[in-house]
Amino acid sequence: MVLADLGRRINAAMADLTRSNVVDEKVLDSMLKEICMALLESDVNVKLVSTLRANIKKKINLKDQAPGVNRRRLVQKTVFDELCALVDCQSEDGDSASAFKPKKGRSSVIMFVGLQGAGKTTSCTKLALWYQRRGFKVGLVCADTFRAGAFDQLKQNATKAKVPYYGSYTETDPVAVAAAGVARFKSEKFDIIIVDTSGRHRQEEELFAEMVQISKAVKPDQTIMVLDATIGQAAESQSKAFKESSDFGAIILTKMDGHAKGGGAISAVAATRTPIVFIGTGEHIHDLEPFTPTQFISKLLG
Ligand code: GDP
Repeated sequence: MVLADLGRRINAAMADLTRSNVVDEKVLDSMLKEICMALLESDVNVKLVSTLRANIKKKINLKDQAPGVNRRRLVQKTVFDELCALVDCQSEDGDSASAFKPKKGRSSVIMFVGLQGAGKTTSCTKLALWYQRRGFKVGLVCADTFRAGAFDQLKQNATKAKVPYYGSYTETDPVAVAAAGVARFKSEKFDIIIVDTSGRHRQEEELFAEMVQISKAVKPDQTIMVLDATIGQAAESQSKAFKESSDFGAIILTKMDGHAKGGGAISAVAATRTPIVFIGTGEHIHDLEPFTPTQFISKLLG
């Protein structure tokens, strides 16, 4: 089920509860059943769904509510809070990654990692533009020497976004290109330097080794993994595999537009305790939105 339908189903279940004369266990259970079904059909992990259901039941606890309590409001607020908790990906170490805040006048390096086709190059440009519009001086470095045409693609995107870029048609060592690009932009006092790396179709040793080497060379302040939301629950194993090799601290979930079962991907990523910092919502360079659980759920429920 796509996200818009999920929102509609949850809203409809809550509206049923609001319409009924009394809010008792039976009405509550029927609403919860419908919400859980909708979440499962959106590919949300079954364990997370049952935890959500148990948490809501425990928090609402109709038997022990004082007579004056507005049960409808209590139910609505609890459902909202638990949906937020479901997609909340704050890291266990106090959320240092999403707290990354670049400063003007100091060069910060952001390195992107991810499989081919996930949307890395597109997201690099979107993020560059996002910061540029907020007054940062941003440069893009193409360290993908693996795929022919990668530099041309980045060049094209960067030109469209009017973001300065660096790359090489002759250098075949991605570490050398990454280091040279970062050095160049640092010497020119850029605030944010975004390094696009190469991907592979599969998770391969070679790719992981390359990420480690580039990371050592450019010493990123933030490493972002780009994940395709259309892979649903598989997002969990993919992000875990990447995490073991390249220690990224944040995720951009792409292709959250269209027919993505976004609920599955978001909850899967939440289970890896890595914050999603942005979501990609289209192919256009402006289709990038910061991700915060409360805003996301508010929007989902319209
Ligand atoms: P890379 O191989 O990881 O660098 O992936 P690309 O940036 O080349 O993207 C692969 C494809 O996904 C391209 O056709 C992009 O236009 C598309 N894409 C990237 N992000 C999004 C998104 O948020 N929504 C949609 N619909 N398409 C996207």
